[in-house]
Amino acid sequence: MSFDPYAIRNDFPILERTNRGKPLVYLDTAASAQKPRAVIDAISEFYESHYANIHRGVYELSERATRMHDDAREKVAAFLGAAESREIVFTRNATESINLVAASWGRQNLGAGDEILITTLEHHANIVPWQLLCEEKNAHLRVVPINDAGELDMDAFESLLSDRTRLVAASHVSNALGTINPVREIISIAHERGIPVLLDGAQAVPRFAVDVQELGCDFYVFSGHKLYGPSGVGILYGRAELLESMPVYQSGGDMIETVSFEKSTFKSAPYKFEAGTPDIAGAIGLGAAIQYLSGLGMDEIERHEMELTAYGTKLLEAIPEVRLIGTAAKKTGVLSFVVDGIHPHDLGTILDMEGIAIRAGHHCAQPLMERFDVPATARASLGLYNIPEDLDHLGEGLHKAIEMFR
Ligand code: PLP
Repeated sequence: MSFDPYAIRNDFPILERTNRGKPLVYLDTAASAQKPRAVIDAISEFYESHYANIHRGVYELSERATRMHDDAREKVAAFLGAAESREIVFTRNATESINLVAASWGRQNLGAGDEILITTLEHHANIVPWQLLCEEKNAHLRVVPINDAGELDMDAFESLLSDRTRLVAASHVSNALGTINPVREIISIAHERGIPVLLDGAQAVPRFAVDVQELGCDFYVFSGHKLYGPSGVGILYGRAELLESMPVYQSGGDMIETVSFEKSTFKSAPYKFEAGTPDIAGAIGLGAAIQYLSGLGMDEIERHEMELTAYGTKLLEAIPEVRLIGTAAKKTGVLSFVVDGIHPHDLGTILDMEGIAIRAGHHCAQPLMERFDVPATARASLGLYNIPEDLDHLGEGLHKAIEMFR
């Protein structure tokens, strides 16, 4: 069956709701994606029929819940193309996954005078943990600049790598501009010098197929809620040998092998990084989201969002008062813009009255806003359920706002 976004919309109950009494036009999927019935049902069914804590009970229900949680990990591993499911750590979100790497791998491997290289395009989640680590270790945070289109300066990237660089941490897709970064090139150049690479895939995994083995990255992180799954669950992929070499991060129940008052020993990866009761239903919901997306086909989703991005770009370019921020040759899913004489927050409020949900602000990327010399942008972001009509509504809403401010 071919990919039909109009039919797919029926899978998402919330799209039947209104916003301010108007049909909902949801253009904020980069912040969080709406949930298909398959995910909602998987979570309800788990709580209704299978719920128990995992890894602890000898009774049937607990064993079943454990199997369902294990199965979710297998699904994530297959979705990312990981070699083994022990390379998949369940966390709360992409932010926690990055913090885990910074606190564990970072503390172990960074020393005074060392460097971590990030990019101007990063979300705060891929800036602040490294900044704090560098402060703690007397190390330095280096930043790859971008051009006016919002593309990485790859010559600068190469020249910023030094014999003190210990890690490159870069987004796969920028949340604020939609730029798709040349991650293969980044990994190949960094690896030539023996430098590991962490990719922040929060905006990539919902938009196209990702294969961590094919990419060759060392760490890959994402959030369940942006992948049409529930909030409260995130993923850290790490190459098995790296995860095994890393010290524990949080400690307590479930991650230990033995405990005495003198000394404790720990399980192997991924369990040593999963202290306490996890978001069991969240993991199962994420597994259901992956199954749903795989059923639709990631390549179809990619094509659809690329087409919509091109459609939206044309539509916005045709409005003289609108200036697009982020015009990379390779971009997807995100349309960031400013409108002459209207603050993005006012624009967000006016569009809201028309039923249109967009985001206005710095998008957790303040240094990037500074680079473009704007305090904020308006951002319409796309998901697999969006249709050209959603963007037409956005265009009409913008014309209305421009008239109001004239
Ligand atoms: N990285 C990117 C590129 C993002 O877009 C986001 C969220 O917007 C994050 C990280 C942080 O995600 P979360 O808040 O789910 O941890």
